[in-house]
Amino acid sequence: MTRWYPREHCKRGGIHPPRTSVNRIGGPSSAMRRQEQRIHDKEILANYVQLKPNTLVIWDRQPYRIIELAERPHDLWGDKHEMRYATALEHWDRYPHGERPEKATWDGRPYVFVLQPDGKPHEKPLHLIGPANHPWNVLPEHYMVCASCGELPPCRQEEAERYADRQAAQAEVLMDIPPGHCLGCGEHITTRQHATRFPGPNLWRPDLPDNSAVFHARQECSTPREKYREQWEARGGMNEQPNLFADEESDR
Ligand SMILES: [Zn+2]
Ligand SMILES: [Zn+2]
Repeated sequence: MTRWYPREHCKRGGIHPPRTSVNRIGGPSSAMRRQEQRIHDKEILANYVQLKPNTLVIWDRQPYRIIELAERPHDLWGDKHEMRYATALEHWDRYPHGERPEKATWDGRPYVFVLQPDGKPHEKPLHLIGPANHPWNVLPEHYMVCASCGELPPCRQEEAERYADRQAAQAEVLMDIPPGHCLGCGEHITTRQHATRFPGPNLWRPDLPDNSAVFHARQECSTPREKYREQWEARGGMNEQPNLFADEESDR
């Protein structure tokens, strides 16, 4: 039974009939966890809608109604899909799993989806061809649109604003790092900890003096450290400062 909640944005959709179980490899070691997982699996299964004519789906951020779903006849697959099928067979021959793919039932077989822009019966329908197992997002009849731009949420503007806000928050946190602290995690570098110092101007904190860019040498701070190293090397790194060197500071 597929029930829509009032504030639910979309469900998963596809052409296959609803499954009766969730494929899992292994499972939790505790009996109660296994029971919780069985309950969770029921919820996953209830979140699926099998596509049929008139189902609302999202394509390219816009709502469409399905007007036709069809198998592509085998003799009309075309080179691209034949090649994908050949690759799937090769893969199966090397790593057999389940039944050997057959053209009629293979998950990736080409399938035709004909979509009509919702509420625009005079526009030309869209003919798409894609793998049968393409995952779709299905909309309820009462779906939301952004009143400002007409896109389905999250609209491009919302995404851009969220991204900008996140960047601003990151920049603020970076600007709050006290001199001498790690530019990755922002925390103090104790004399017992290994550190990597980058000579030259501080690329992330131009307000700090030269040779102030320092990071913990530990794994936890490696992502920002390597990002800094890339930018530092792109600017010339060592070559630009023959008198300076990256000091793997240590206090053993
Ligand atoms: Zn918008
Ligand atoms: Zn750190």
